[in-house]
Amino acid sequence: MKFADLGLSDELLKAVADAGYDEPTPIQAQAIPPVLMMKDIIGIAQTGTGKTASFVLPMIDILAHGRSRARMPRSLILEPTRELAAQVAENFEKYGKNHNLSMALLIGGVSMGDQVKALEKGVDVLIATPGRLMDLFERGRILMSGCELLVIDEADRMLDMGFIPDIEQICSKLPSTRQTMLFSATMPPPIKKLSDQFLNNPKSVEVSRPATANTSIEQSIINVAPKAKRKLLYGILDNEGVDTAIIFCNRKTEVRDLCQQMRKDGFDAGQIHGDMDQSSRLAELDRFKSGEINILCASDVAARGLDIKGVSHVVNYDIPWHPDDYIHRIGRTGRAGATGVAITFVTNRDEEHVDSIEKLTGMKLPVRDSKSVKPEKKPAGKKSAPEKPKGEKSKGEKPKNDRPKNDGPTKQHSDDRPVEPKNRPAKSAEKPTKPPKQTPKPEPVESADKDDWNGPVPGFLDAKLDR
Ligand code: AMP
Repeated sequence: MKFADLGLSDELLKAVADAGYDEPTPIQAQAIPPVLMMKDIIGIAQTGTGKTASFVLPMIDILAHGRSRARMPRSLILEPTRELAAQVAENFEKYGKNHNLSMALLIGGVSMGDQVKALEKGVDVLIATPGRLMDLFERGRILMSGCELLVIDEADRMLDMGFIPDIEQICSKLPSTRQTMLFSATMPPPIKKLSDQFLNNPKSVEVSRPATANTSIEQSIINVAPKAKRKLLYGILDNEGVDTAIIFCNRKTEVRDLCQQMRKDGFDAGQIHGDMDQSSRLAELDRFKSGEINILCASDVAARGLDIKGVSHVVNYDIPWHPDDYIHRIGRTGRAGATGVAITFVTNRDEEHVDSIEKLTGMKLPVRDSKSVKPEKKPAGKKSAPEKPKGEKSKGEKPKNDRPKNDGPTKQHSDDRPVEPKNRPAKSAEKPTKPPKQTPKPEPVESADKDDWNGPVPGFLDAKLDR
């Protein structure tokens, strides 16, 4: 099947060809025609399957005719995290380059004033996280009555994050005649209930999970004692052809500690987790995408759905608590036809988690012996014992960056970036126990017009208003 068979406009086909895509992915082939016919759809699909384009492409053609009005967005896309919202916005920019559609992004951590200004002028597409959207709605800055098209993306993640009540409220404010698309990797009962309530005779399209179908990811687990994890990680990074790796930990504090230690040990490592402010998260992602750093220590919330090309390895430093997260994590590698490696560290207390992952993926995870990993290469000058007298704080210590793989020019940030991100709440909300489902909303509600964006403003944050 070709993109031209799906009923998309010539302008759109040109943008798709410019993006380098010849054939639609299965979710695109199944979803685009019914969306163009204005049908509601339920898409059971993960990130990594091309699902973003399956709604962005037909939306562009649907919205090509018609005019936006002040404070009345014509369409709304709900995303659980800021990163995913930003990624969808990038997709709109890429595929919508031959159209003249205006877009605004409503996410926490970005100046509300600018977002309100964009909305005042009218937008065709509003991409939002539920917390910020409800906040603006309650202030009377948005009218939902003109919104004829709604996308609820990553619905099961929204459920985990406690966003379902917000989504129900949002759905009830939109015109009942709207077209609705709901995407979810799984269909737990609350999501089924949501779709029964708010979708009208939807067509279901389903594509297999990348984790079960995706043979391009070589998966394995390695049994390891908690204290031996770091050594094992370094052995893998030093010996197993790792170009770029995302290292997942279950707790934000662990992401921070691991990243800090890795920098000290000479790795070009960065971090991304939910306690970091938006600008630091985006900056860190940019450093990873540009190759300035090749290791990204990450927590689930921050890394969900991120589309980063060419990640050669995913290491689960901690096995995830929820089996769905396993699928999302390993899906960061082996994307768009590339091959990848996913290694999961398992301690003797993790048996239950391995079982639930195997049940969900329907496959037995191959077990590797930790002895099959060669020991880490000790770079010259790297100390195994503390370098300073007892009691002296390690803060401010200039870490070594002399691992063999980091021989390139000295990277400006890898050594001297503050490990503690600015604006982080004083106390971490993390507990060493399983996180409860339906936790409080992680999107902080921020005061109006608080100009707290202290990083560069990406182009897609501006609404394109010169219609
Ligand atoms: P998504 O599931 O939307 O996160 O997309 C996963 C990746 O697949 C992204 O890097 C897309 O740019 C890429 N992609 C989307 N559609 C296609 C296609 N038809 N052919 C090849 N790659 C695609």
